[in-house]
Amino acid sequence: MTDQSRYETHEYDVLIIGAGGAGLRAAIEALAQGARVAVVSKSLLGKAHTVMAEGGIAAAMANVDQADSWKTHFRDTMRGGKMINNWRMAQLHAQESPDRVRELEQWGALFDRTSSGDILQRAFGGHTFKRLCHVGDRTGLEMIRTLQDRGVQMGFDVFMECTIIRLLKDGNRMAGAFGYWRENGRFVVFKAKAIVIATGGIGKAWPITSNSWECTGDGMTLAYEAGADLLDMEFVQFHPTGMVWPPGVQGLLVTEAVRGEGGILRNKLGERFMEKYDPKRMELSTRDLVARSIYTEVKEGRGSEHGGAFLDISHKPPEYVKTKLPSMYHQFKELADVDITKQPMEVGPTCHYMMGGILVDAETSASSLPGLFAAGEAAAGLHGANRLGGNSLSDLLVFGRLAGQAAGAHAAKNSQGAIDDSQIAEAERAILAPFDRGEGESPYAVHRDLQKVMQNLVGIFRTEEDLATALAELEKLKQRVACVRVEGSRLFNPGWHLVRDLQSMLTVSEAVARSAQARKESRGAHSRIDFPNSDERVWGKQNNVISRGADGCMKLRQVPVKDMPAELKEIVAEDK
Ligand SMILES: Cc1cc2nc3c(=O)[nH]c(=O)nc-3n(C[C@H](O)[C@H](O)[C@H](O)COP(=O)(O)OP(=O)(O)OC[C@H]3O[C@@H](n4cnc5c(N)ncnc54)[C@H](O)[C@@H]3O)c2cc1C
Repeated sequence: MTDQSRYETHEYDVLIIGAGGAGLRAAIEALAQGARVAVVSKSLLGKAHTVMAEGGIAAAMANVDQADSWKTHFRDTMRGGKMINNWRMAQLHAQESPDRVRELEQWGALFDRTSSGDILQRAFGGHTFKRLCHVGDRTGLEMIRTLQDRGVQMGFDVFMECTIIRLLKDGNRMAGAFGYWRENGRFVVFKAKAIVIATGGIGKAWPITSNSWECTGDGMTLAYEAGADLLDMEFVQFHPTGMVWPPGVQGLLVTEAVRGEGGILRNKLGERFMEKYDPKRMELSTRDLVARSIYTEVKEGRGSEHGGAFLDISHKPPEYVKTKLPSMYHQFKELADVDITKQPMEVGPTCHYMMGGILVDAETSASSLPGLFAAGEAAAGLHGANRLGGNSLSDLLVFGRLAGQAAGAHAAKNSQGAIDDSQIAEAERAILAPFDRGEGESPYAVHRDLQKVMQNLVGIFRTEEDLATALAELEKLKQRVACVRVEGSRLFNPGWHLVRDLQSMLTVSEAVARSAQARKESRGAHSRIDFPNSDERVWGKQNNVISRGADGCMKLRQVPVKDMPAELKEIVAEDK
């Protein structure tokens, strides 16, 4: 038996797990409801993955292209997601993003401006109009800075470098969370009436990724283990343009803003190959299509020296490039010794974004468990089979706010649940087990092999055979991770931290492979070589849902895509 008084314990109305854009926006809204709010983050405040966002926030403000409206944004998002998005989320997102951006501006965000002083908007793939509000190519930094200042000023408490490893329940409802301080390995208990998961994506399960170290699918796994549903896990976005050279920076993102500002893609023969794949939209086609096009060029022998394509912006004036894309200019100059005002960049696909995640209600971001909410990349529904660039930052603002609002309201109506000791004892036993093993392999070896499996068998193009092999390999990796051993003490021990991260990555990887195997068609980011066409009759009408069965195994079921009201069907059908 564990005595809870042994642990450092904190009690709040609302606990937010994650300090990226979604978590911070949720915290601000829960505070506005009068709730006592804590934000827990496994990285430092201000360093969450959102800080890396570059290109901008999509919002139909019509500052540059006056014909833009929420309806066009809604249509673009639904078409980009290949029509299996949660239509209500797409509608709310398109309608509310302009207000969320204006709010950010009122809180101090300094956006780039038009000559008349409005927020400047740039073009991005899949968006009909110039729609991305931006701060050069450092939009995420400005967003995090603004939200953080606002939240601190309003009075949330922050627990940084603290990793949550288990959600605690009273019966079926949320009662808190259990975690450890990264610095000293000591445990901590948070009691809360409502919890918002805002833990971001899963990119670290692949070796070539634009994602930061935090993106190990923790929140999706915590929710799944607690009994919540995961939606459409097969849809993993491979961004077409990551750095391919030198090897140490492989996967690092080359923002879509380069193409938005006029960048041109060519193969080694100098051909502008997007003419073949999407002659209408060319480089501003959707990410899934551009990524597959580059992959195909390379596979057919027309790739660059290091297995990518060339992205060229050097036809624009140097000062323009340096002003509009300052991070890209420095990134290539410092990391690859390439001056992008004079030379092309070498780029190739990189694992970038997770469209799937925790199944939530559109209006409240509530999961299927009472008191558990989710927002941002950890949640699913808005983007369907493929996300448009810029739609994530607006997603964080719109659904972060709704999640915070609903979590605050939930906390106001409910009492604190009781937490029995056995849940904590079990979590503690499991996380300390790798120290007790006399022998066992290193978690780093298992991580490397997991990444190989996901890269080679669950990548841009998929087949039945590869997916079946991947699932068998993942089973073996699960057994290996149960036997890993870590050296040293609990004082800042990254190898030990990786063990729990690995369990999360294995859970989400299995969910991705299972859902990908079930979906016998190609749609958006999910490309099956053995089923190259989309199947509107069957798969165009259903979403995949993953849950944990009573036997502890993963279960997959299909649910019908929600039917759209007639007036929204008309908007989507308009020939524009
Ligand atoms: C290089 C790059 C550029 C991008 N540019 C754009 C862009 O221009 N426009 C756009 O719309 N999208 C962009 N994206 C995507 C977008 O940045 C992300 O989807 C978004 O920032 C995710 O935000 P989030 O709040 O959901 O999670 P994150 O920002 O990933 O934050 C997750 C938080 O959860 C914490 N956390 C995770 N696990 C735990 C745990 N177990 N315990 C405690 N805390 C935990 C982390 O420490 C972190 O604080 C870009 C992505 C990349 C990689």
